Amino acid sequence: MSSTKSYAAQSATTPLAPWTIDRRAPKPHDVQIEILYCGVCHSDLHTARNEWGMTIYPIVPGHEIVGRVVAVGDHVKKFKAGDLAAIGCLVDSCRECDNCKEGLEQYCTNGWVGTYGGQEKDGSGSTHGGYSKQILCHEDFVLRISDKQPLEGVAPLLCAGITTYSPLKRWNVGKGTKVGVLGLGGLGHMGVKLAVSMGAEVTMLSHTPSKAADAKRLGAHKFVLTSDEAQTKEVANYFDFILDTVSAEHDYNFYLGMLRTNGTMVCVGAPPPAPPLGIFNLIFQRRSLAGSLIGGIPETQEMLDYCAEHNIVSDVEIIAMKDINEAYERMLKGDVRYRFVIDMATL
Ligand SMILES: [Zn+2]
Ligand SMILES: [Zn+2]
Repeated sequence: MSSTKSYAAQSATTPLAPWTIDRRAPKPHDVQIEILYCGVCHSDLHTARNEWGMTIYPIVPGHEIVGRVVAVGDHVKKFKAGDLAAIGCLVDSCRECDNCKEGLEQYCTNGWVGTYGGQEKDGSGSTHGGYSKQILCHEDFVLRISDKQPLEGVAPLLCAGITTYSPLKRWNVGKGTKVGVLGLGGLGHMGVKLAVSMGAEVTMLSHTPSKAADAKRLGAHKFVLTSDEAQTKEVANYFDFILDTVSAEHDYNFYLGMLRTNGTMVCVGAPPPAPPLGIFNLIFQRRSLAGSLIGGIPETQEMLDYCAEHNIVSDVEIIAMKDINEAYERMLKGDVRYRFVIDMATL
């Protein structure tokens, strides 16, 4: 076991504070990484405060991890000491079910192991995430990153990037596709950038007029103020695909009406229960309402390579580790453009 400095929540009501974790002993296939930057995802906050009722304390959040390899086990082939490397939301899965065999580890039917708050398959205890100095896991769950992009901007790709990339690819978004992106936060801003890079016509859907300028700057072709009846009428039966990134309560029926025949709305946010679904909103135009969870390891690597090739990174605000609790409060107010990233040199 090796001692590693970290920031942890000890209960749902205590702020995150310094804590020392004992990482498990490295195994022959493990890659050990010194963490340089870790993005701050809304899931970190939900988990630290036990808002999903599943948290085991103490918890060290963080699953947008980039850093440098400091050591590798004897059997590791993909990495060597000194390489840049990244870890996203998963550190293990069963590797035997149909989904794992297809590279869809995020849908492992025997349960995948989350980067934090998961249970190691060897019984060595809970996993701890990226709000720490070091992390290790099996090389199969470690990703390669480019040395040509700013590392702090790459970190959020590991969750916000893949969460939006995966459904855009799955539903064949590209040239000629009319895409609506709902919500302009950490996920939404990546959704806009990625959909634009794929050649789609992208419309930002927001109830905040001040987001119009930002949407344009990020590359969105249109902006629709959803509180303005005339503007929303113009996009009735309009979109082929809506990426719904909102994690506050909202009415799906309102947005389903913006889909054309055969259109699909994919939800990637985690809102509280919504108003009842009017099923005719689906039936009458053969529309679909779907969900999507992060991405598997092969697709996450594909996304990182794609972003390197197209020079796409997240827009970030770098913070010191000690400011994480304040960052959570600001995140709740939507006061971040668009992702906080912790500079781990400050821990
Ligand atoms: Zn996340
Ligand atoms: Zn599996």
